[in-house]
Amino acid sequence: MADFVFPAPAPTTLAVAGSTALFPVGRVFCIGRNYRWRPDEAAPQEMPAWFMKPASAVVPAHGMLPYPPATGDFCHEIELVVAIGRGGRDIAPAEVEPHHVWGYAAGLDLTRRDLHQQAKRAGGPWEAAKAFDHSAPCTPLVPVATCGHPRQGAVWLTVNGIERQRADLSGLLWPVPELVAMLSRSVALLPGDLIYTGTPAGVGPLQSGDVVQGGVAGIGQFSMTVGGAASRAATPLQQP
Ligand code: MN
Repeated sequence: MADFVFPAPAPTTLAVAGSTALFPVGRVFCIGRNYRWRPDEAAPQEMPAWFMKPASAVVPAHGMLPYPPATGDFCHEIELVVAIGRGGRDIAPAEVEPHHVWGYAAGLDLTRRDLHQQAKRAGGPWEAAKAFDHSAPCTPLVPVATCGHPRQGAVWLTVNGIERQRADLSGLLWPVPELVAMLSRSVALLPGDLIYTGTPAGVGPLQSGDVVQGGVAGIGQFSMTVGGAASRAATPLQQP
């Protein structure tokens, strides 16, 4: 047994739909703009920006969603999540679905939008805006053996029953095979990696007490209630 200086934490896991098995979460990659937010928007020639969240940010998408500290603009982004079962680098698009994708889920890429705007203005890193605790809720993973590879179907989110986001998977500017292939040219993918594939138009703020529901047709849906704002939420981050 390894001589750890303190007990090594157990891996973050996600439930597998229809099974008692658990999916051990490795890294979390998130893709930037990957749907048209306006009808006249041109498809990008280059892959959209990507960023990461720690595995510890992944939580089951049910129950209470804590309102995070250090923000006054906590925003929802509903996304199709791809779970990688076999790693690789320089993967060809045609190889992605048959050999590398383990399953799919519906997830939320939660964002502290005020810190995101601040980071974009300053040309600074996005971690404070994106990589906070509980920032990546995810439904149980559906194995490819059950759901196949979804190419169309609704991606939707409501707040207190009012629709905020709705698109179709067929609107992904970089579909899953191309997206995963492109990412694998930038980093070697590993089993356990999750890829949040980008959110459609309609991102908006959440308030304490809001009931946020969403899902991806044929894959999963969730309902969560936003908890009370942390006591530090009103304190803006200051330069030391
Ligand atoms: Mn996103």
